[in-house]
Amino acid sequence: MWVGTSTDIQEIKQMDQQKDYFISVASHELKTPITSIKGYVQMLSIMYDKSEDTFLKTSLTAVDRQILKLTTLISDLLDISKIKSGSLPLSKEDFEIKSVIKDCIDEIEHINPAYKIIYHSKDNLTLYADRERIGQVFINFLTNAVKYSPGKSEVIIESFKQENNIVVMVKDSGIGISKKDQQKIFERFYRVEGKSEKTFPGFGIGLFIVAEIIQRHNGKIGVESEPGKGSSFYFS
Ligand code: ADP
Repeated sequence: MWVGTSTDIQEIKQMDQQKDYFISVASHELKTPITSIKGYVQMLSIMYDKSEDTFLKTSLTAVDRQILKLTTLISDLLDISKIKSGSLPLSKEDFEIKSVIKDCIDEIEHINPAYKIIYHSKDNLTLYADRERIGQVFINFLTNAVKYSPGKSEVIIESFKQENNIVVMVKDSGIGISKKDQQKIFERFYRVEGKSEKTFPGFGIGLFIVAEIIQRHNGKIGVESEPGKGSSFYFS
């Protein structure tokens, strides 16, 4: 006996298209006011740099940090739209990987002053890639390393040469990821389900974007992790 089912997926497809369209328009519309707010906050920070008013200064720093988080989120949403429409252009150049890593460490330590990011590198490694996009990969790895290691205060970055490849690894000693989830976290909107995971904010798009960036460079991306012990995210 043969048994079959058929589902009309036309409606699901249309809803998916509407969702992508909404993400694209919403992220574009959000970008303009945020850019303007960012400019004013930077001006205020410069104007009151020498002020004795500690409340004013800590408030401006806090607003600045939150704006940085918001801008990253909006750029991620824009990238999702670009990936979906097949237009994530790369602009490649030669650059020292150390310089990008140092910039990213400064940015992450500025947003998370309680964390120390330690960087080990033996050699001077030059990469031919899109500098800004590679920076985006580090920022994502580092943001996650900090976010998913509550109560800890250290993240380690290593970069080294392996045969003809450059490998960069970001290690944390946080909550870790089970084998089952390790295979799925690079998918769009995938977030690990669990009692403790619910407390971490996020959309589940960061790793999808960085995987796409590395893939577009013909590179490899991956993770080694043990629940309760920590994770090491790497690309080559
Ligand atoms: P988000 O963090 O916004 O949810 P990501 O795409 O960056 O989105 O990550 C997808 C999922 O992978 C996260 O929801 C989290 O469950 C898991 N994850 C990513 N990085 C880490 C890490 N360093 N330690 C533990 N889990 C992680």
